[in-house]
Amino acid sequence: MHQPTIPTLTAADPELAALVEGEAKRQHDKIRLIASENYVSRAVLEATGTVLTNKYSEGYPGRRYYEGQQFVDPIETLAIERAKALFGADHANVQPYSGSPANLAAYLAFLRPGETVMGMSLPMGGHLTHGWPVSATGKWFSAVRYGVRADTGRVDLDEVRDLARKERPKVIFCGGTAVPRTIDFPAFAEIAREVDAVLVADIAHIAGLIAGGAHPSPVGHADVMTTTTHKTLRGPRGAMIMTTAEHASAIDKAVFPGLQGGPHNHTTAAIAVALKEASTEAFAAYAHQIVANAKALAEALTARGFDLVSGGTDNHLILIDLTGKKVAGKPAAQALDRAGIELNYNTVPFDPRKPFDPSGLRLGTAAITTRGLTETHMPQLAAWIDEAVAAADAPERLDRIAADIAALLDGFPMPGYTA
Ligand SMILES: *Cc1c(COP(=O)(O)O)cnc(C)c1O
Repeated sequence: MHQPTIPTLTAADPELAALVEGEAKRQHDKIRLIASENYVSRAVLEATGTVLTNKYSEGYPGRRYYEGQQFVDPIETLAIERAKALFGADHANVQPYSGSPANLAAYLAFLRPGETVMGMSLPMGGHLTHGWPVSATGKWFSAVRYGVRADTGRVDLDEVRDLARKERPKVIFCGGTAVPRTIDFPAFAEIAREVDAVLVADIAHIAGLIAGGAHPSPVGHADVMTTTTHKTLRGPRGAMIMTTAEHASAIDKAVFPGLQGGPHNHTTAAIAVALKEASTEAFAAYAHQIVANAKALAEALTARGFDLVSGGTDNHLILIDLTGKKVAGKPAAQALDRAGIELNYNTVPFDPRKPFDPSGLRLGTAAITTRGLTETHMPQLAAWIDEAVAAADAPERLDRIAADIAALLDGFPMPGYTA
């Protein structure tokens, strides 16, 4: 049953409530390996469900366009101060609705339409909003893209430097959505400085690892950090932008009034709660456990003959390259879902297949680490993955794995649900 319980919703809209209950049970019963997902705490859940959703507060604390900010101002200030303290940033804006609008704010702050941005190519591990052609950022700006080396699977910093010298981008993005290795912020900063570009570190995936000291911080290297709050940081769906003092006002103006209207105050409150949680010793231990689990899972998968992009992982994320296997990414992901293991199919660098039917699987360990799984569970998990991928045509075997997994997970409580 969903926790907190939802009796009023169940009475008012049983159809909707049943779907919510179904999703809660699904999240409880599956090994959730989608690298961008997690389980938030009950405190975060409660904050998102408060009457703060009723309030409009365009502007910033102390400078609003609506009255009645006696409680919203201190809530947003708490979130801002906690973000600054946790990441060591000069300035924080906690209003972006999500990661994509946060990145758009960086464009609005530092680029005019048609000017040049440089980011990691989507099929190499970048994000749509780093200038990919189907995104507004690729349509409205001139985008140049870097990738990874074919031999190492790691960002090709020589290519980044050469491209930057040739194209003179005004903004350089580093970070991505399918990057299993540490991002070399000092190297990107040196390149950005040389060509006089603003360096934006998009830490959406790794913010929780940075907060917990399990990944180097871009602070002192990047001018701007954009991040979602709902991935490894384990907060509500939302985003933040942190900057040096120099860029604070440009970013604030870009978020409001440049791109957005009223901030989502219930989300801001939940971000404040998540940031408080993320500043604890327990969270630092959690962040390190995420990485330990990913390394253990990568090792166990490699031992079973899976080919991993870059040969392993430094963070929470693993990218399996199925090119050498008989099955492609999509049917493998579908088989795994039936077997109780939820992940997504993904392109791999230099993928010979199409983006909608690519050769890779992307996995992350943030959510299973929240559930309490440790290194000791990773060989069994790798065995299930191996068996399910091989048994894509054998539904009864997939269902048997799903039952075994649900039984295991019964011993690992999920915040937001009781069996
Ligand atoms: C998830 C992600 C985003 C976008 O976040 P949304 O909240 O889905 O808009 C942006 N950049 C990176 C690197 C991401 O991983």
